[in-house]
Amino acid sequence: MKTARSGDHTNTQYTVQGLHVVVKPTGPLCNLNCEYCFYLEKQALFASGEKYRMTDEVLSALISNYIESQPAPVVEFVWQGGEPTLLGIDFYKRAIELQRPFAHKKTIKNSLQTNGTLLDDEWCSFLKRYGFMVGISLDGPKAVHDRYRRDRDGNGTFDRAMRGLKLLQRHGVDYNVMVSVARDTASRPLDVYRFLRDEGVEFIQFAPVVERMPDARGRRLGLRLAGPASLEDEQQTGVTGWTVVPGEYGDFLIAVYEEWVRNDVGRVFVMNFEWALNAWLGNPSPVCVHAERCGRSVVVEHNGDVYACDHCVYPEYRLGNVATEKLTDMAVKSVKSGFGVQKESRLPRWCRECGVLAACRGGCPKHRFARTYYDEPGLHYLCEGYKKFFLHIRKYLRALATLLENGLPAAYVMDAAKGPLVIKLGERQKKGESSEGNQGGAVKRGRDAGTKGIKEGNL
Ligand code: SF4
Ligand code: SF4
Ligand code: SF4
Repeated sequence: MKTARSGDHTNTQYTVQGLHVVVKPTGPLCNLNCEYCFYLEKQALFASGEKYRMTDEVLSALISNYIESQPAPVVEFVWQGGEPTLLGIDFYKRAIELQRPFAHKKTIKNSLQTNGTLLDDEWCSFLKRYGFMVGISLDGPKAVHDRYRRDRDGNGTFDRAMRGLKLLQRHGVDYNVMVSVARDTASRPLDVYRFLRDEGVEFIQFAPVVERMPDARGRRLGLRLAGPASLEDEQQTGVTGWTVVPGEYGDFLIAVYEEWVRNDVGRVFVMNFEWALNAWLGNPSPVCVHAERCGRSVVVEHNGDVYACDHCVYPEYRLGNVATEKLTDMAVKSVKSGFGVQKESRLPRWCRECGVLAACRGGCPKHRFARTYYDEPGLHYLCEGYKKFFLHIRKYLRALATLLENGLPAAYVMDAAKGPLVIKLGERQKKGESSEGNQGGAVKRGRDAGTKGIKEGNL
């Protein structure tokens, strides 16, 4: 199953079995200067004169530490930034060389999240040869993409990112596209979706952009954005001008879903939709923001320091260093400190009583800085959008689940969606049609899940 990967502006890290590690070998260094970037500012947390380049010693310690401490049979390295391609191909060749002695013990995979602007034929040949899964950030057509994704001179980066996408396609590299849904992007759902689909993109993930203006603590650290919300007593600061409006984020996802469910089921895979179906089928979420708990996805900075997650690279979330402590011990330390567990234990009553809790799970704690109808803290800023979206698609999820339960292709929902959404099982089954070979990732996952949890009111 292909999955979209943690992006350069996303709050979706994957809770795979065991431990999940995102590596930032260039720290917050990037060749671009996107307006909504939450990572460039992390330079304020490191000493001046810092080189932001993972040394061979740190790389070597990271690789042996991660592979040896991973309890699961698959070890996946997610190389991210900043911009990880700034280090050049030789860095990753060396990483593969260092991974090789462990290959008989575990299955080792590599992913790269990139802005795509530095990719060339040599890079793509390398990525293809070594089976890297590439996540490329592209926000849609030129006018949408260039609205926020600019370089240091203020120039749009669409042409360079598109060149990167085309090279990935030409070389047959496995890739997916990460779309950051910022305020203005949210008003162009169909322009974004149709553009990507028509460019031949099959795997898409939408990541909402949410950031707050700095609080006193953030300012003291020299940051321009606020850190994670306190789930007990948040003193909310205003959101940034590029933060998506909650209801508009919901409308964006709904508009794309309506287009997808009529035309592209089984052809284009939108990870946000797959997660929702997954929840409807009663399976645990593969993505941290919609999982009951989080905390098994740690981040390794260029200097080997380990933090609780990509969105929590702040001094108080530092867990240790790969050179001196086992990664699993650090992850356990994180869980014991309450990180990840509080995602569930501090859910406000508003969420606990919510009809779409099974799909939403309250969202990422970093952005739970709103207050509920009962004036409780700890509500996600995007609550309105999440609720709107999950409620809207229930009828489709119900239809998809019915198809899957009966061994029929999910793509049949497209015909039903154009009419009154009636699934005529008798006719389909009489034709003896089978779903095999005509289904996408969500469908396969759904069938694997059987009928567990498929019921009204589950979502
Ligand atoms: S590409 Fe843009 S969002 Fe990604 S790290 Fe660079 S500046 Fe930040
Ligand atoms: S939709 Fe809103 S109320 Fe429901 S679980 Fe999500 S954040 Fe909580
Ligand atoms: S705080 Fe939790 S949900 Fe949010 S990005 Fe980090 S691991 Fe994921």
